[in-house]
Amino acid sequence: MNNMRKNLNRVHEQIVEAASACKREPDSILLLAVSKKKPASDIRQAWELGQRDFGENYLQEALQKMEELKDLDISWHFIGAIQSNKTRNIAEAFDWAHCIDRAKIARRLSEQRPAELGPLNVCIQVNIDHESSKAGIELAELPELADAIHQLPGIRLRGLMTIPAPQESFDLQRSAFAKLAEALESLRQQGIDCDTLSMGMTQDMEAAIAEGSTLVRIGTAIFGERV
Ligand SMILES: *Cc1c(COP(=O)(O)O)cnc(C)c1O
Repeated sequence: MNNMRKNLNRVHEQIVEAASACKREPDSILLLAVSKKKPASDIRQAWELGQRDFGENYLQEALQKMEELKDLDISWHFIGAIQSNKTRNIAEAFDWAHCIDRAKIARRLSEQRPAELGPLNVCIQVNIDHESSKAGIELAELPELADAIHQLPGIRLRGLMTIPAPQESFDLQRSAFAKLAEALESLRQQGIDCDTLSMGMTQDMEAAIAEGSTLVRIGTAIFGERV
């Protein structure tokens, strides 16, 4: 418990510092605790310390933890790749999906979202550094995909998500995030009302916040190394 408290406090301090360094409100940045490969008991501890948003990458693992934690009021974010055969579970169990990169997946999520839950919040994943190993669309594909997704009734396009290539220097980290921020601005000019830049992890959250991140996805700094 002690460690978890220390870790969460440190991450909150980092967010406050990074925000004030660029004159942003710390409250404009949501902390998503990435709990993949960590037990439900860790999530419960973080919840007891006030954390409410949790991110999971693997569907079966996530559903098991949800079952164990159903007494808690948690906002669940799916941050893994989505195959067609997983859309129903995701549409039914999650509040957010961050890694949309195909219209077909978006259409299935929209159709399968139970009406009483309201629209599923989604982000389009952009492969900002053109890495062949990574999911996500190229920026050139964004206007068309955003336009298609934006019209679906069962999901709500909230913004963009990216995982840049690792960089040592703060300036190089920033330049990838700046491209995503620019892309969000161009979506707005396209008439799509979105508010979310899901960017920044343990190693690069300060640079992401400097470029306007509204949601940082932090695993290691909260829960420790994953095995
Ligand atoms: C694992 C993961 C994270 C968290 O990474 P850390 O480096 O542990 O903070 C964030 N986003 C996604 C998409 C992930 O898969």
